[in-house]
Amino acid sequence: AKRLVQIPKQTVWSEMTPLAAAHKAINLGQGFPSFAPPEFVTNHIAAAVTDPNAPLNHQYCRAFGHLELVEPLRKIYAERLQREIGQMELLVTNGVTQGLNLACQAFLGPEDELLSFEPYFDLYTNDVYLSSSNIQLVPMQTDDKLANNWSFTEEALRAKITPRTKAILVNTPQNVPGKVFRRDELELIAKIAVEFDLLVFADEVYMTLVYDGAEHISIASFPGMFDRTITMSSAGKTFSCTGYKIGWMVAPEPLIIALAKVSANQTFCVATPLQIAIGRSLADATTNGYFQKLISIYEGKRELLVTALKDAGLPVVMPAGGYFALADITGIDESHYVDPNDTTDVAKDWQFCRWLTKEIGVNAIPVTAFCRKETRPQFEKFVRFAFCKKDEDIQEAGKRLQKLK
Ligand code: GLN
Repeated sequence: AKRLVQIPKQTVWSEMTPLAAAHKAINLGQGFPSFAPPEFVTNHIAAAVTDPNAPLNHQYCRAFGHLELVEPLRKIYAERLQREIGQMELLVTNGVTQGLNLACQAFLGPEDELLSFEPYFDLYTNDVYLSSSNIQLVPMQTDDKLANNWSFTEEALRAKITPRTKAILVNTPQNVPGKVFRRDELELIAKIAVEFDLLVFADEVYMTLVYDGAEHISIASFPGMFDRTITMSSAGKTFSCTGYKIGWMVAPEPLIIALAKVSANQTFCVATPLQIAIGRSLADATTNGYFQKLISIYEGKRELLVTALKDAGLPVVMPAGGYFALADITGIDESHYVDPNDTTDVAKDWQFCRWLTKEIGVNAIPVTAFCRKETRPQFEKFVRFAFCKKDEDIQEAGKRLQKLK
């Protein structure tokens, strides 16, 4: 179909993950944990599939989501959004990846535009193109001193609003820069959404990973915002199980019904035993102190990675949330990794990541995978390293990165 023309054949994931494997590089690229989920989670999975008295655990379930998952989510979001969440205000999805696609399919058409921030997660543009609509991007202002204060002005945001704008997508904590949106920034987005009568797609997939006491704020919790916001998150990051693909959307019932019209034709429902197990795990996690423990484990991993990068001569933008850190590669001699005969017009950070994987044995992700060609000069000095990895992996990567000095 015509709309596929804008979607690249190869993605950064389909290139970098196999490249890392082929060169036996330590994979600090794609964001998936290299360690197992907590035992209470895997025990719930085992129980859900082996219970002889629960044959229905293996069958299709309620299309909007199994109630064993929906009920704990209602409690969590009632507290988070400071309002009661009805059973029909939730839709379980195949991760936020499906959620984003559903939101674009359900609410965007050829006359519409989505507004978001750059660098953006690469699926956003593709989802917009798949719904035959268009995207406008506000480039975040970066900071020369590498402080984690990337932001945007009201003026820059307003400049990208057009008569076609239908929704704003905000991702907090934000993949790639590890930014946690501040209250005043979210208030500004909310004000603009109300003024122009826009929907808000809130991708909060890293919501449980915020550091140094930073607060994750859901824009749907602001007065009047629940009615126009679709809040999305998942279990993958929280329970180190990105392959289970259990995600969810929270929104007013009419919006959920619209989303479910699409999901009914994509997946009908999501893996039943995994929903049950994640529901039981969320119920446990809210009482066993797991969320606090997770943050302290990740603060330790962040420290390991940031120290390793700095020791290798790579300055870092300290992430306040998520499980990625950005390193500035301007100090590394370009003659190592830029091929002067290259005619493919590939960005410098991309060349650096290929070289780092093949020659140094560490895989990372180029930030220009998350921006347009126009903004390449602003972002191509940054490379993204993941710290959702075993401590040994991060330490070994640190040793290999010493060769950069
Ligand atoms: N969210 C993951 C990352 O940023 C990638 C997910 C995917 O490959 N679709 O690394």
